[in-house]
Amino acid sequence: MTAQVIDGAAIAARLRERLADDIRAFTEASGAAPGLATVLVGEDPASQVYVASKRKQAAAVGIVDHHVHLDGGASAAEIAETIERLAGDPAVSGILLQLPLPEGLDAAPLIDLIPAAKDVDGLTTLSAGLLARGKPGLRPCTPSGVIELLDAAGVEISGARAVVVGRSELVGAPLAQLLTQRDATVTVAHSRTRDLAAVTRAADILVAAAGRPGLITAEHVQPGAAVIDVGIHRTPDGLRGDVDYDGVAEVAGWITPVPGGVGPMTIAMLLRNTLLAARMQRGEAI
Ligand code: NAD
Repeated sequence: MTAQVIDGAAIAARLRERLADDIRAFTEASGAAPGLATVLVGEDPASQVYVASKRKQAAAVGIVDHHVHLDGGASAAEIAETIERLAGDPAVSGILLQLPLPEGLDAAPLIDLIPAAKDVDGLTTLSAGLLARGKPGLRPCTPSGVIELLDAAGVEISGARAVVVGRSELVGAPLAQLLTQRDATVTVAHSRTRDLAAVTRAADILVAAAGRPGLITAEHVQPGAAVIDVGIHRTPDGLRGDVDYDGVAEVAGWITPVPGGVGPMTIAMLLRNTLLAARMQRGEAI
């Protein structure tokens, strides 16, 4: 079997086109475009690239840029002051604190200063609680992107056996909840899981989010399964994922490439969350 490739770049591009239309309609109806505040602290090169890409793609769909760049020496109090100012600014629909913060700063209490209605990364404690309860709220971008990819590829989620490898707050844990809410039967595997291959071979949908290059090989995969690779690793040969792509593509029914799979979807979901946030702030249900 040779897997069908799920083209995340193309799916994200289509999504951005639809979003641009929706944002145009929202802006005409409300008199103001949604605004996104990206908060970058310090000069981490990877973070600078990510933030630049988010701002560029946001501008391209009609979102107003409220970027803030704080010096690497900024104190927790200064970052908190910035977030509180943005939280009170009606022109700012969404706030994103780019991670990681410089060493010595604890991100969690700062993230929790972002109001749930502006939490476009879906990472505050309140947003996590809303997700856990299945209540309306902004969902984390990468897990939402995985669900969108499965839907776009026509992979049936309801009733499927899904295995998520990784249980981080950013990806694995919220994704397991989203899949459960879509009626999959979900198993979460992690670094202490015994005989990982035996667990993953039961999966109709296998999501690799362990941050271990090439962890998932053909022997981990049930023939015909949908394999979604969240991992991103910079190697001398370019970007690689958690999945041994060539081997797994021979066995799986669907597979996402790295790059061009989950990555582009993450930013598309951020843009969608910014529009949802703007709608929530106008009292609309999402
Ligand atoms: P993390 O380090 O916070 O969590 C990794 C998880 O994997 C942990 O729960 C750990 O228990 C589990 N794990 C580690 N080794 C394992 C093993 N050998 N077997 C089974 N489970 C194992 O990482 P994260 O923030 O969740 O990110 C995971 C990967 O996804 C990274 O490569 C990261 O760069 C990538 N990522 C990609 C995007 C995107 O937009 N594509 C977004 C976020 C993260």
